[in-house]
Amino acid sequence: MIKNLKIVLKKQKRLIALFILTIFLPSAVLSVFGIRAIRNEKFRLSQQFENENRRIADILKTKVSSQLKDIETVIQNLVQYPMFSDKDYQAIKELLITGLVENNLIDQVFFIYKDEEALFPLFQPVLEKRFPGSTLLLDENQQKKLKSAEEFEFVHRDYKMAISFYNELFVHLRDKNIQAQMLNHIARNSTKLKKYNQAINIYSRIIDNYQESTTSFDLPLVLIAQLGIIDCYRGLGESVNALKKSLDVYKKILKNSWDLSESQFKTYTSIVNETITNALSKTSADFSDKEENKYEFEQLKNIYQDRIEQWQIMNDLKKECIPELSHILSQPETYIRTPFRHSKTIGNKDFLLSSVLIPDKDKKNSLGILGVKIKNDYIERDLLNNIIENIQFGENTNLTISNLSGRNLYGKRVPSDESAKITTFFEDNFPPWRIEISHLETGGMGIIDIHKSFYFWTILTLIIVLSFGVVLIVKTVAHEMKVLKIKSDFVSAVSHEFKTPLTSITALIERLLKGKVKNPARMKQYFSVISQDTDRLTRLVGNILSFSKIEEGKKEYDFEDTDITQWLDQTIEDFRKGSIQKGIKIHTQIPDNIPHLKIDRNALAQAVNNLLDNAIKFSMKKNEVNVIIKSEKNHLIIKVKDYGIGIPQAESDKIFEKFYRGKNAIRYSVRGTGLGLTLVTHIVETHGGSISVESKVGQGSTFSLSLPIKSKTE
Ligand code: ADP
Repeated sequence: MIKNLKIVLKKQKRLIALFILTIFLPSAVLSVFGIRAIRNEKFRLSQQFENENRRIADILKTKVSSQLKDIETVIQNLVQYPMFSDKDYQAIKELLITGLVENNLIDQVFFIYKDEEALFPLFQPVLEKRFPGSTLLLDENQQKKLKSAEEFEFVHRDYKMAISFYNELFVHLRDKNIQAQMLNHIARNSTKLKKYNQAINIYSRIIDNYQESTTSFDLPLVLIAQLGIIDCYRGLGESVNALKKSLDVYKKILKNSWDLSESQFKTYTSIVNETITNALSKTSADFSDKEENKYEFEQLKNIYQDRIEQWQIMNDLKKECIPELSHILSQPETYIRTPFRHSKTIGNKDFLLSSVLIPDKDKKNSLGILGVKIKNDYIERDLLNNIIENIQFGENTNLTISNLSGRNLYGKRVPSDESAKITTFFEDNFPPWRIEISHLETGGMGIIDIHKSFYFWTILTLIIVLSFGVVLIVKTVAHEMKVLKIKSDFVSAVSHEFKTPLTSITALIERLLKGKVKNPARMKQYFSVISQDTDRLTRLVGNILSFSKIEEGKKEYDFEDTDITQWLDQTIEDFRKGSIQKGIKIHTQIPDNIPHLKIDRNALAQAVNNLLDNAIKFSMKKNEVNVIIKSEKNHLIIKVKDYGIGIPQAESDKIFEKFYRGKNAIRYSVRGTGLGLTLVTHIVETHGGSISVESKVGQGSTFSLSLPIKSKTE
């Protein structure tokens, strides 16, 4: 095999060299250039995309920064107002509310004066107790009276007496706040006496006339009165009124109508929450506004949640951020106008603070800090969207913004081309978020759309040409190897075919010449064997010559009108005579009415001889052959039937190919050249007929020659 390959490669040296020089090398060189060109193109594009990504990032950064700068300018201007240097808390609160509360970007506002606590004017009371220690305003006598009233109320539970004492105090006192407190006590005792309507009237008086008053614990009396009214409605069993009033109070607490501390806020919201839930469960199903109130309650609960979060934020600011900021105040006190930014992550939240120093009157020293906490939610949900929507960029650009802990704030991370990706941060790292802009992957080559690339198609064409070339070369080599094998097989088969009869002839003639054979009968037998061997050699040579003539297209036929019965009898008889093997039984079945045909007698006899020869060769033990002839429609069929080894189905077509020798023939070392059936086919086809075979392995084969009765040569 390898030897054959070497021979073929040597033979096809020129073809292979030609292929390498004209196809392979140019293709390889072009491919290398193509790949390099694609790489350059990729680099150029990635540069282009990178520049584009930088442009987008710059716009985004500038726009976010300008929004933040706007806020800083506002607070810078606000601190210039005199109320800041005057520390007029109430005025500051009003100024900040008008100046900042509407700003979507602001979450919380705070200010700190040196050595004071931080105040949150939009959220928390900035004033200290407005009526500190108001009971101190009572004289000794009045104080005694108040004590007795309280004793009647809480110890003796004599509410009537309590009312009359409280009333007396109310009439004699001039201080509005204490008056309001007395009214509150009277209303409370009326409630205890179940005089609900009377109590409601008194509470209403407080609400209408004593807006600013507070209890001795600094709780707004208006709120207490509202809660008292709710109690009365409940006492009266007027759950609809109780519900409406409770919703109203809930709303007011949430709107920060009264400056409550965190614990007060939580206490009163929970009281009102409970009365609403209670009232909702008590109001009858046919109460038409029930669903509406329920809905309103749900909405208020959301606001409540928001307020609670705000308390949390405020506490975090107080605990975590403001101490760090206050540090600035402990530094040399010179007033600097420039705002300063501070960011801190608490839990999973980013706290973004922008602050300015509060100047004193001369604008020389700083008194404190005014700061705002930026509303991250707004930036994430609205601002970024708005800004990014207005930046023009291609749909394949992928923009993501994430905070330092990796949480995505904008966009989604998708597989993208890393080569054009840029990562950058906001100005001053404020907000401290990461901006990543990349180009989406479009295919195997990243940013290059491979299918649109000229180089891609060139390389593909080269690869196809190369593959064709290689396939062609391999096929040629394979074919050459096959031919080489066929040739050598044929030569060895033919030599073998010649060798056997020649050896036998030589041996017999030698014996005859030496006069060793005296017996005339024996001598006759020797001559007969020699004659049969020469017949065999003649047939062999005849076959080879015929084949070579056929190959060259020089084979000539001589058609003569022939009595087929006679011709076939003669052919079989000649074959018998020429056959070396004894005991061969050739049965014939030839009907009478066989028509004459125009045939080349010798050629067709050669065909029949080949079939008979095969039948005997492949019969092995049972040397019995049937020759049947019959006419069918317009055809004369000559069948040669044997009971030999048979032909596998897979070979039934191949056996007619030139030089083809069946696997069994080789396995059982049956002599042959692989030319017999090729010749038969050619001869029969020249007569306008055809050959076919039916066979079963191990049972035998029947070859049929079908000749047209009206010969085509007629
Ligand atoms: P050869 O007989 O010289 O090998 P042929 O062309 O006559 O060549 O036959 C081709 C092959 O067909 C044989 O090698 C054999 O495998 C198969 N063949 C032909 N005739 C018979 C038969 N009568 N029985 C079994 N095999 C046959």
